Amino acid sequence: MFKVVVVSILAPLPKPLNYLVDKVHADVLLVGRRVRVPLGRRFAVGVVLEAIDVEDGTKLKPIAEVLDDEPLLQPELLTFVRRASAYYAFPLGLALKAALPAGLGSLTAAPKVKHVRVYSRTDMQLTLRGSLQKEILAWIENHGPIDLDTLRQQFPSPYTVLQRLEALELITCRQKESQRDPFVGIDVVADQDWPLNDEQAIAVSQIAAASVAEKFKPFLLHGVTGSGKTEVYLQAIRGVLSAKKQALVLVPEIALTPQLVGRFRARFEQESVRVGVLHSGMSTAERFDMWRAVVRDEVDIVIGARSAIFAPLSRLGIIVVDEEHDDSYKQSEGFRYQGRDLALMRGQMEGVAVVLGSATPSLGSWQRAEDQLLQRLSLTKRVGERPLPEVTLVDMKNAEVEGGLSAELRDAITQTLEREQQCLLLLNRRGYAPFLLCGDCGASYRCPNCEITLTWHRKLGQLRCHYCDYHQPPADECPQCGGAAMDPEGMGTERLADELQLLYPDARIERMDRDTTAAKNAQQALVGRMERRGVDILVGTQMIAKGHDFAAVTLVGVVDTDAALNFPDFRSAERSFSLLAQVAGRAGRADLPGRVVVQTYSIDNPVLQCAIDHDYLRFAKQELPLRQLLSYPPFGCLANLVLSGLDRQEVERAADALVAGLESQAEVCSGVEVLGPAPCPLFRLRNRYRMQILLKGQSRRALRELIAYAPQWNTYLSARLTLVLDIDPVDMM
Ligand code: ADP
Ligand code: ZN
Repeated sequence: MFKVVVVSILAPLPKPLNYLVDKVHADVLLVGRRVRVPLGRRFAVGVVLEAIDVEDGTKLKPIAEVLDDEPLLQPELLTFVRRASAYYAFPLGLALKAALPAGLGSLTAAPKVKHVRVYSRTDMQLTLRGSLQKEILAWIENHGPIDLDTLRQQFPSPYTVLQRLEALELITCRQKESQRDPFVGIDVVADQDWPLNDEQAIAVSQIAAASVAEKFKPFLLHGVTGSGKTEVYLQAIRGVLSAKKQALVLVPEIALTPQLVGRFRARFEQESVRVGVLHSGMSTAERFDMWRAVVRDEVDIVIGARSAIFAPLSRLGIIVVDEEHDDSYKQSEGFRYQGRDLALMRGQMEGVAVVLGSATPSLGSWQRAEDQLLQRLSLTKRVGERPLPEVTLVDMKNAEVEGGLSAELRDAITQTLEREQQCLLLLNRRGYAPFLLCGDCGASYRCPNCEITLTWHRKLGQLRCHYCDYHQPPADECPQCGGAAMDPEGMGTERLADELQLLYPDARIERMDRDTTAAKNAQQALVGRMERRGVDILVGTQMIAKGHDFAAVTLVGVVDTDAALNFPDFRSAERSFSLLAQVAGRAGRADLPGRVVVQTYSIDNPVLQCAIDHDYLRFAKQELPLRQLLSYPPFGCLANLVLSGLDRQEVERAADALVAGLESQAEVCSGVEVLGPAPCPLFRLRNRYRMQILLKGQSRRALRELIAYAPQWNTYLSARLTLVLDIDPVDMM
């Protein structure tokens, strides 16, 4: 018998490979650890999936090195990643690589464990002469065990003295792993549970009962904005913790601010509950540290963005997905998983409660609640009986517009500023203007790599492509007709902020979009200035709609609704409704009544009409039948195939051939349609031509039958082409 491990290499290989285990590791638990293994003439990193005995292992190669001191993934977590990779028809090795903290798949760039020296006093007694020696020894005696960094803060250069004391056996030194804390230096103000209102109390008790029952139980917590959903999570989690279980809280990336983390810490840390954070703003080393802390069971609550669904918690009792409708739960490249859906999958596998919370649930979750697959919990009122803000629609067809703003919105801003309250203005387009246009010939600049006009960023003095990194300065004259300089056309956040400054010269105006928040901590600093009321008007893209709780915001203005409403995608109504309801929900959250002004060219649009009344139910009732009629999700299931390559004709021909193949495979499956090929909405992106094929299944089972053929599809294609399969797509660009 040979001891063998089954290893999934963190690379796009079709299946795991077997390697021999050397004598040193024969009795070590290797499952869930990374190993370095020979692969062809090189080496690769893989994760051990299983340890087995085989009769004949003479042809197998041995593992070269065990890279981790402890397993990084428990068996349950390995099973979960395997299921997720099967569901998304994505290679297991790459799925594991995406699940683990960044960098762990590489042999060179992997983060290292950092150690610190920790000193403790021994029993040895000796009379010392040096006064510094005495002082340091006394300090260690009183404060020890103590690490070197702390000693360095107390004494100028203690190291030689410490070595001396160690040589005299007065102290001992050991190496302890140091944890890099991403939220070091952030104040935590103590905080207590609020007395719950009736609806909150029902929600908490239902969730707590479910998490004690140790069975899978999914909830949809539908609560209007400001109804106290976070309070429900906090108190439900308290119950979970007292049952000695752990909590996993997923939030949209952008909402993962120190403010939110602070709220959890403030609530729990005085009870020595450890709150951990995992998100992409942390360095790879910080994430690696946090991951291992979770593995070692040193963390009770993990708060994280999408990828935290893979956090290696072993005593999981509850998973919360806040703002479950948010598109950022869908990974848009590589392993294209949907974090919310995986939360349900993991919850089911581990038998825990899963709470999906939102003021504007995704229609998929809503339908599941209708079908009794999720238990609905409703918070219908704002905390403290605060009214929802009044919404006014302004018909832009007859409006007196100045600086992109109607008279109604301008008046509302003036009044808000006079009362020294804050305004939020939503314009979901960054940059100064969507394009520069030649007044003579109508030419505009296009990206040479993508089929798209370049956005004018005036402060940068650049035309930029929002899809690839291309940028260029504008020419002095029109590059097409040589006419005079081109003019900005349309409006982005940068221009809106400039126009506002002209209209309100004394107002403090700031902008929140991807350009102004790119730097580390910039978003957090801006949120801080808003909270301290150092900003009067905040202009921003959808980023401003997400989760913020600014007490002094009493006016929300929506500058443009038409771009979103008319976007060619079956989910545009859902997206628009939720964006409007969410941004409107930022107004009047404290004791001051709020107001919302929405500018539109489509005043009769039924989606807008529902949004004015804050009526999610009516919106769902009106939108779901349309989806059903066309068998779109949540009634049917979709998968999108994007075929791309540098040569247009080759892509088009291959797409036709692929569709022919798919159609013959679909014939033997029941209830799948193959639609296309059609050019993608972005036909050319980063120099590649792109065709898409939509697979529409009447049921998930039907779609799965066809997707089972996926491993064959690539074999039809030349190596110059790339085929990407996106299951349950949210974005079909
Ligand atoms: P949501 O997440 O539903 O938008 P939050 O949980 O942020 O709402 O709650 C809105 C505000 O109301 C917060 O400032 C919160 O501290 C407060 N709050 C929540 N529940 C209660 C309660 N039962 N009593 C008093 N204040 C509450
Ligand atoms: Zn481009």
